[in-house]
Amino acid sequence: MKYEQPALPYAENALEPVISAETIRYHYGKHEKAYIDNLNRLIKGTEYEDAELEDIIEQAKGPLFNNASQAWNHIFYFFSFSPDGSREPGGELRKAIDRDFGSFEKFKEEFVEAGAGLFGSGWVWLSRDVDGKLLITQGSNAQNPLTDGLTPLLTFDVWEHAYYIDYKNLRADYLRNLWNIVDWDVVESRY
Ligand code: MN
Repeated sequence: MKYEQPALPYAENALEPVISAETIRYHYGKHEKAYIDNLNRLIKGTEYEDAELEDIIEQAKGPLFNNASQAWNHIFYFFSFSPDGSREPGGELRKAIDRDFGSFEKFKEEFVEAGAGLFGSGWVWLSRDVDGKLLITQGSNAQNPLTDGLTPLLTFDVWEHAYYIDYKNLRADYLRNLWNIVDWDVVESRY
């Protein structure tokens, strides 16, 4: 079995000016693709050859974990955005955000703060635990909340390759701008 890189559900310039077509060409076209190519190379002849991506993330270590998790994280990240989706959460997810963070505005502030404050490369996550409680976590490098038994709902990539073309060193500006392209219908469907 070979993992396929899913096509983006929007044109490469559809998220401008928040994420440029040039960033998409590198980040999706080269970085995400490389993780998936590496994953396909690494699983050959191993017990993971026919495994689900989530199983590899939960069980493997080292380069196999890193590439499987980075493949999953990037697909999840790029599918969280759309040029014309809901820009605010609704329904049960909105109630949970208000309950666990005080308000949607406070949640966004806390999320950006966690992403801006992560030292080095990694991801900032919104997840739900088994009891339905929402939490924001930081993860270094290829970390994924699945390994902690959490259900990921949203992630922002804070590796420099995600923002350096468009924002240079201004990571917090990049993170704040991402709110303009998050598709909350997608995030809600994960909740
Ligand atoms: Mn990335």
